[in-house]
Amino acid sequence: MASAILDRFCQKVSQIIQSEGTACFTLGAADNRLYLQSFVDLSQRAVPELGPQVDIDNNTHLTRAVVDAIESDRCIILDEPIHLSDIELGGPVMVVPVIWEREALEPEEEPVKHPVGILTLWGKRGRPTFDDEDQQLAGTLAQQAAALLVEAHLEEFEDIQTAFATVPVGLILIDTEESIIVANAAARQVLQVNVLQGKPLSQVDSRGQLRELISQLQPGAQSQATASFVSPLGETYAASAQLTREGQSILAFTRSPFSTAAEELVGQVAHELRTPLTVIQGNLQTIEAIMGEEVTAEDLQVADEFIGTAIIQSSRMFRLISETLNISRIHAGKEIELDVTEFDLIEALDQILLELADKLAGHQLLRQAPEALTIEGDRDKIMSILDNYLKNAAKYSNPGTTITVSIEDQDGEVAMEVRDEGIGIPPEDIERIGKEPGFRTSASKDQAGGIGLGMVYVRRVTEAHGGQVEIESELGEGSVFRSVLPKHQPSSGSPTTKLELT
Ligand code: ADP
Repeated sequence: MASAILDRFCQKVSQIIQSEGTACFTLGAADNRLYLQSFVDLSQRAVPELGPQVDIDNNTHLTRAVVDAIESDRCIILDEPIHLSDIELGGPVMVVPVIWEREALEPEEEPVKHPVGILTLWGKRGRPTFDDEDQQLAGTLAQQAAALLVEAHLEEFEDIQTAFATVPVGLILIDTEESIIVANAAARQVLQVNVLQGKPLSQVDSRGQLRELISQLQPGAQSQATASFVSPLGETYAASAQLTREGQSILAFTRSPFSTAAEELVGQVAHELRTPLTVIQGNLQTIEAIMGEEVTAEDLQVADEFIGTAIIQSSRMFRLISETLNISRIHAGKEIELDVTEFDLIEALDQILLELADKLAGHQLLRQAPEALTIEGDRDKIMSILDNYLKNAAKYSNPGTTITVSIEDQDGEVAMEVRDEGIGIPPEDIERIGKEPGFRTSASKDQAGGIGLGMVYVRRVTEAHGGQVEIESELGEGSVFRSVLPKHQPSSGSPTTKLELT
């Protein structure tokens, strides 16, 4: 960053304060090192080889004075000479903190007061040491130095900004105090904020998602963390954070895992729709064949049965399609409407068990439920909860093992639970299921056919009914998925419930 302007400035400082020389250092906030930016010596000494930094924790006369000056925000005077690399600078030496101060730009912002460097003046000409007037002057000059250093930084940031502007993903550079140094247009679009530069991250990260991500970074260069990020518009992005060598964090936003999962979702839905459609088609063909000229009572009975199965399978198709549509609504940040009616949950469970008979055929099924249980809610969506739990239980456990589905009538609430003896879930992954679109546990990655969206839907639907999802699991032993729902929905008018994406 060394510039001719800074050299001229240091020259002027030496003339005004009558020192033999002036050096200007910037302070690396992240690594506590001083970086020499300018060295002006009126006796024309060579510039010291500083290699290029001084660690201010290394406890020399100079560094102790630097720490003192910055902490107390005043000049410190040393009588003894100091060494900068191989050069001895004669005393007295004045160490002047360079603090950048700026008024708050917006009402809710704190004023900025930030140590950015130091000035070192040595060898007072004409008098034994630097007096009060010198110190006052030095303080004023240090303010100019702060402006120069920050301006030079800003130039650097402009370069970064130009580079950022050409990148198709959102990028934000954050300093060690969690303030935004620079951001590109895509990031402003993601966060829906016109000006990001200079703002504390907390101001634009109301749900704390980005601070949580940054907190996962381990000290040390190249540490990385990734999570999904839901924007103020409800769009989901993959956000990744990386630590720079200077301790700053770079945040990058890329397309949502929803988008990358979209093709897989289309494939999976098409695949899932094939089974009920094949049953419906087969049944209709059979009915057509038996409904010849002479229709016996027996034919009618068979037709009746086949029509019944076709109806069940068409309702399964209907639910699959509306589940897919609702997942895309969640993705778009829209509301999901609850069509609340009063219905018998046990009848709904039995319908699901019929619909999924082919998927559950390889397992031992245990059903524990009361005779009947009337609740209020969106029948189709509540059926989707059971549907997902049961399909997952079958998918993530071996054939022959037991799947237990139970419905329990609890005071004012109802617990719907599916228990399996399958692969289980690593403890650290339990919290993430259904919260991060596209998330799959490490234990399930080899399992084909999963895309990590079903549980997002289950969680949203459960919460929209005022209930909660509970997951218990032991790796390699099995899992329990439970939705606890209130039996009654608030009757306060609109059955439409806003699905908050958290
Ligand atoms: P997927 O389509 O991947 O099954 P889900 O959203 O239904 O998506 O589930 C998300 C992830 O949760 C799964 O990928 C899997 O890692 C884990 N999971 C869900 N159900 C079970 C279960 N019964 N046993 C073990 N892991 C499960």
